[in-house]
Amino acid sequence: MTPYDDIAPAAQGTPTTAPLIDSFGRTVTYLRLSVTDRCDLRCVYCMAEHMTFLPKAEVLSLEELDRIATAFVGLGTRKLRLTGGEPLVRKGMMDLIRSLSRHLASGALDELTLTTNGTRLAEFAPQLASAGIRRVNVSLDTLKPELFRTLTRGGQVAKVLDGIAAAKAAGLAVKINAVALKHDNAAELPELIRWAHGQGHDLTLIETMPMGEVEADRTDQYLSLADVRAELESFWTLTDLPFSTGGPARYVRVEETGGRLGLITPLSHNFCEACNRVRLTCTGTLHTCLGQEDATDLRAVLRAGATDAELAAVIRGGVSVKPKGHDFEIARRQPAVARHMSTTGG
Ligand code: SAM
Ligand code: SF4
Repeated sequence: MTPYDDIAPAAQGTPTTAPLIDSFGRTVTYLRLSVTDRCDLRCVYCMAEHMTFLPKAEVLSLEELDRIATAFVGLGTRKLRLTGGEPLVRKGMMDLIRSLSRHLASGALDELTLTTNGTRLAEFAPQLASAGIRRVNVSLDTLKPELFRTLTRGGQVAKVLDGIAAAKAAGLAVKINAVALKHDNAAELPELIRWAHGQGHDLTLIETMPMGEVEADRTDQYLSLADVRAELESFWTLTDLPFSTGGPARYVRVEETGGRLGLITPLSHNFCEACNRVRLTCTGTLHTCLGQEDATDLRAVLRAGATDAELAAVIRGGVSVKPKGHDFEIARRQPAVARHMSTTGG
């Protein structure tokens, strides 16, 4: 008898039905779950300086988040990433993580992971590790305290560095995510990569995506990773790696540092054919493409008292209309989608 034997199949997330397949034949096995729209930072490319956050009643409760995540696991989701907003500012977050980790223990889920800004990692890293989390993504665009404060509108880089060190000490693999910004960190990127690789962390660079209204002019912030790659190749040897996560990242090895570098170019279309992921906002809206407005309201279904079977059927319907590809175009001054990244979950 295991601790899970007395939990009903739906609550265990045991796959009982056919996998989630969209109308283009892509199997969805990866859910990114935003647990809050709130954050302790205000990154210039992500949020407006004075954000209005959602009323609590609109945000899914921990029980609702667990129920939806579990429904996805029951439909064949193998990887679950918790994100936000900042997931570690959500009250009760560790309870949710410990609860969801039952799907790791049962073998229904391959990976439970987290994207965080790292400010509270020093506090939570040991608990995350003991709950079964093996890897975390930490967003860090610069090592310079002044620039970090400017980009995050008030954050302290030392806290994030302490958090990363605590994660490493707790045995968590850390991947650094850095948004490439033309005027802010472009010149620092080689140093950031060298630092991350020197610490044993992979690093992934991300192009800015036009999501939600922020004060900054995105056409001015946008830095093409094709240009960054060309610059890096003027002094480093980059070897393409076959590694893929089914997402927009392409990976190379930097021979001089021995580390892995990811390049996320969301504005190119070269990844949509293999896209295996969907996103759920903290209000329970299912988005099957980061760059499209298609949406299925799972919160309404839950709060209307749906059974597990009814919930699964609505999820299946939502996934079936997953668009073929996104519609980002940086040259447009208007955001491609009105919602902020912090609502959808990056
Ligand atoms: N707060 C957590 C963090 O910062 O890691 C998780 C949520 S955050 C929205 C997830 C990722 O989205 C971060 O790596 C962040 O840099 C990235 N991001 C936010 N807005 C973006 C934008 N407009 N374009 C590209 N990446 C963005
Ligand atoms: Fe917060 Fe992450 Fe958005 Fe920065 S990128 S404002 S840390 S949610």
